[in-house]
Amino acid sequence: MKNSISRRQFLGAAAAAAALPSVGASAPAAAIPSPTMWPQDRSAAVSLTFDDAMQTQLDNAGPILKKHGLNGTFFVITGPSSTWLKRPDDWRRLAAEGNEIGSHTVHHPCMLKAIKPHSQDYTPEMMLKEMRDSSESIIERLGTRRGLTFAYPCGDMTFGSEADLARNQARYLDYVAQYYFAARGYNSWAPVVAEDINPLTVPVLGWTAGKDFPSLLDLLEPARQGHNWGVFPFHGAGGQWLSVTSQTLDELAGFLARHTEIWAATFGDVVRYIQETLTLQVEPSESTERRRQFALSWPLDAKIYDLPLTLNWKLPSQWGSCTATADGKPLDCSVQANGGEKAALVDIPAQTKTVRFVKK
Ligand SMILES: [Zn+2]
Repeated sequence: MKNSISRRQFLGAAAAAAALPSVGASAPAAAIPSPTMWPQDRSAAVSLTFDDAMQTQLDNAGPILKKHGLNGTFFVITGPSSTWLKRPDDWRRLAAEGNEIGSHTVHHPCMLKAIKPHSQDYTPEMMLKEMRDSSESIIERLGTRRGLTFAYPCGDMTFGSEADLARNQARYLDYVAQYYFAARGYNSWAPVVAEDINPLTVPVLGWTAGKDFPSLLDLLEPARQGHNWGVFPFHGAGGQWLSVTSQTLDELAGFLARHTEIWAATFGDVVRYIQETLTLQVEPSESTERRRQFALSWPLDAKIYDLPLTLNWKLPSQWGSCTATADGKPLDCSVQANGGEKAALVDIPAQTKTVRFVKK
């Protein structure tokens, strides 16, 4: 597995290579700004996700996240077996507090014998309807316009009879992609290396049921060490199935609130940030002694991919500091010295067309 640092080095090298033909022989070679792996150059990312639209998530998990200023992602079953229909105002409130509401289908079809309905009995039309109806229910209730994410019930990525499993795996992915921009699995365990992401089959860190806080930290550790993204899959919080205790969730949330070097964000926002960093194009557009300007292009759907990006730019050697603007609007620009080199960090809004740095 590639270490995530390699992407940063790769982007830096690619940016430097791209700069050479544009600035020409007479101008000093300039570095090109590149996105930091995580916002504000944080060292890793984590998402807390909760499946099945359970009562204890509304009663316990939501308030715990709020207490620590965190947001989670709740993959809800929109059918009559869950709280989605019984407690609509509570789900609205959770979303209004900044939490992400994603889909976990309408009826939770699953290959496990113990769980009904059985996805072995599903036709392609039935599975497509699960995707469509649950997304419509969420959009109708919440007015979401930023795109939705999905979690596979039981982590199963296919359905139907034995003979159809291979063909239906491709169908399932296709159906998910029609209604969702990213999806989380359950049965493959690994930190997510940003540059290797497959947004429709994002793995989790491992199962969490019955684990205490130190065990959850152990699960997270490889993601922290590798500067990668760790996704926790939770069910009940302080009761109901596959649960962790409220105290455990409170300790984990408290840890993340204190450790601001880890970016704690919703599942969808981390996918947004990764996809934006992987596709952003930056070209030098103007270069003078006191001013450097770059043209940016954002190839992804602006309605979904709306997160600000942090850019890192290595200052020319004769510059002491700088100011920066994005499309003419001033940016907070923090210049940090690292050995003999200085680098500016700026947060730019999504869809920024022009970034300009001026010597100070
Ligand atoms: Zn589930």
